[in-house]
Amino acid sequence: MPMRIKVLSLNDSEDLQSQDGSRPTTQMVCDDVVLLWKEEPGLEYCHMGELFERVSQRHPEWELTKEGLEELLADQNLRVFNEEDIDVYGEEIETPSLDSIRLDDKNALGNQLEIKDTPHMGRGLFSLKDFNAGDLLIKDLEPICLIPPMEKLTLMQNGKACSLCGQSIANINSHFIVINGLDCNDCQAVWCSKKCKLKDIIHAPLTHNKGKNKLVNGGNWRKFEKFCSDNVFVAAYSLGIMFSKYLLTKSKEAQTIKKKFDSLAFVSQRTRAQYSDSSNIGGTLDASDGVNTTADPEPKWKEGYQLFIDTFPSLKEEVDYERFLEYIGRFNLNAIAEQLYYIPSFINHNCEPNVRFEKDSRLHINFYARKDIKKGEQIFMTYCNPLHEVNLRRRELRVNYGFLCFCDRCRKEVKTIKRTNKAVAENKLHVVERLPDSHRRKSSLRSKRPDLEELMRNGKEFELEIPDVIGSGKRRTSVRFDTTVSLAFEE
Ligand SMILES: [Zn+2]
Ligand SMILES: [Zn+2]
Ligand SMILES: [Zn+2]
Repeated sequence: MPMRIKVLSLNDSEDLQSQDGSRPTTQMVCDDVVLLWKEEPGLEYCHMGELFERVSQRHPEWELTKEGLEELLADQNLRVFNEEDIDVYGEEIETPSLDSIRLDDKNALGNQLEIKDTPHMGRGLFSLKDFNAGDLLIKDLEPICLIPPMEKLTLMQNGKACSLCGQSIANINSHFIVINGLDCNDCQAVWCSKKCKLKDIIHAPLTHNKGKNKLVNGGNWRKFEKFCSDNVFVAAYSLGIMFSKYLLTKSKEAQTIKKKFDSLAFVSQRTRAQYSDSSNIGGTLDASDGVNTTADPEPKWKEGYQLFIDTFPSLKEEVDYERFLEYIGRFNLNAIAEQLYYIPSFINHNCEPNVRFEKDSRLHINFYARKDIKKGEQIFMTYCNPLHEVNLRRRELRVNYGFLCFCDRCRKEVKTIKRTNKAVAENKLHVVERLPDSHRRKSSLRSKRPDLEELMRNGKEFELEIPDVIGSGKRRTSVRFDTTVSLAFEE
């Protein structure tokens, strides 16, 4: 199949090239505003005048008017007060049909859970029995394909972490490693257990390229791996690991990986990037997407695609550039803490979830009820950091997952903001009180997912950061989740 390459500019920024310093591009302005809001969430609710003033202080060199800024932000979905005007890509997400799914993971569902179509959220996971808060719903589930954590590549290459699961081997003594043959004969790599070593069927062909494998070019794998690591392109790296397994073993397990991956919902990464409102590190699109260093990610994607095909020449026909971007989008849409888990990929989002997860050192995952769940109720987890205030949460969900959240919590919080904005507009209130200093996230540049994992592990309740309701003098600091979660979409 000939390679189709469509070049589209990010968002509507036709002025992307005007970088003479004085006239900022749409992207530059959006990046700066999103960053400013991350640093001082309270500013997301302030008067346009105040926001303009802050942006001007940060960039006195920019030729920008208040009206220009307002229009630009509205255009990019960043300051829209009418929800119908917000464009989302949810409609473009494709879901392979449910009967085509082979539920090899039926054990994980048991007779406790089932996957069903929902009226407005695609597929969802539902309970088949009552659960009490704290109950284990999904136990010790392996990822679809274990992806060695990319951020530990150097440690793994230097024999400081297990080559398969990335677990530190600091407390395993070297004698134990040698007598159990947990080290590689040809390089510094080690494994934490016999099980991990046995399962790691891709290390030798990728790293040592014995017997000149036609399916995988080990030398090019090194280049591909380095490219992914340098660009924090977790999705591409993960694809590489999955396809190595798929191509290198004829095992049933490897074929299942591909089947499961193919049955997950997907949308092209290009679509996701087009709906992004910012491109910088710390922007709204997940940092591990590997497009964050540049306003136009297309050249990086093409470079990654070429290295991918150089590594797996036999995939050239099957995976063209567009398909590659679909795979990247599919991974990012379904990943939980940088791994894919089959059953959990069907769990829909709610900002007041009824389950939380814990991942262990072997990257297996467990799901627990956060509150009582009735038979027949839908299971919800959260895709975003629930500590973030409503606008940021909804932006994160819109950009990364393509929908505008209408969960009960979002509705309630949006209503409060609307009331506040109205009061400000009617001049009943003059000063927007910002979050106290201790609650500002001056350095929240980390990717949201590790935060979330930590949080879900520890918290039974979320500490909510909600800006003061102006004038009321009261600030809600914590919310207990003791109400029943109803379906997030009611209309
Ligand atoms: Zn291991
Ligand atoms: Zn080796
Ligand atoms: Zn919500």
